[in-house]
Amino acid sequence: MYFNNKNKFLHGVMFHHFHDKNNFIKTQGSINSDQLVKIIKYIGRENIINANEFINNILNKKKVEKKVCLTFDDALKCQENIALPILEDFKIKAFFFIYTDIFKYNPHNIEIVRHFRHAFYKNINEFYKDFISIVKSKLGRKEISNFFIFNKEKILKFRKKFPIYTKYDVEFRFIRDHLLNNFEYNNIISELYLSKNFKPKKYHKHLLMNKESLQKLNKLNHEIGLHSHSHPTKIINFNYQKQHKEYLTNFKLLKKIIKTKYGIRSMSHPCGSYDNNTLKVLKKMNILLGFKESMLIDNNMKKINNSKFEIARVDHSSIIKSMN
Ligand SMILES: [Zn+2]
Repeated sequence: MYFNNKNKFLHGVMFHHFHDKNNFIKTQGSINSDQLVKIIKYIGRENIINANEFINNILNKKKVEKKVCLTFDDALKCQENIALPILEDFKIKAFFFIYTDIFKYNPHNIEIVRHFRHAFYKNINEFYKDFISIVKSKLGRKEISNFFIFNKEKILKFRKKFPIYTKYDVEFRFIRDHLLNNFEYNNIISELYLSKNFKPKKYHKHLLMNKESLQKLNKLNHEIGLHSHSHPTKIINFNYQKQHKEYLTNFKLLKKIIKTKYGIRSMSHPCGSYDNNTLKVLKKMNILLGFKESMLIDNNMKKINNSKFEIARVDHSSIIKSMN
């Protein structure tokens, strides 16, 4: 049984990466098509509603208990190739949240870096080791250990919130998001690419959706929503103007690519990051609903699904855990 006292409310199920035998390698947290089918059956097909119905339920403040929708973040090609055929088989219309700078090649795109660290290293810890050793050589050992001492509480809190991440995952994320600036981070990644003779350009098309993908999803009546333009890991570091620009650019580019009956009306917060400015931006843009990345009551929320821009989502990995 999927539902219990802790999840008896409208919420989304959050998916990211999929793998198969031929084209998409197994990466941290990725699942295959059989596992997706198992998750759908475990939740119960009758409990999964289409994106459109989900939006209507939230807007009409309907007290619906045991219903979920399916959501797919980050415009991943593996979702189109592996998950979409299954959604179609089950006649499920899902949400796809798309950030838009994927339409311009960027060697440091988060998916290309992710592919690199899985495909070019024996295991992910080898990547983290190489990464941290370059950071240490650039910034000095002392600075790194001070950084971790200074952020000890924050790191503990993060690990409690996201138990799926290992200690090294968290250290990498903290260095990337809180210690290095973009320029420094990209330089280190480029250095690692070079050391493994990795050619990032080859992977852009393979890993990320293109305009035709979005048109296909839209034609099949899946719901395309915002996910910011550049997918910052911490959009709350941006002021109101900068956040507005992120979502407005995202909105305008998506509108150019797809013609929808209702317009672009939904979103999910990249890396779950949002603050009051984000909520103001979304309201101003007439977005109707937005998803978080957790089932927790946090960020000064008073209750679950606190506002229409704070709808809860459960990660598919938590569902797999409760299935076993
Ligand atoms: Zn994302």
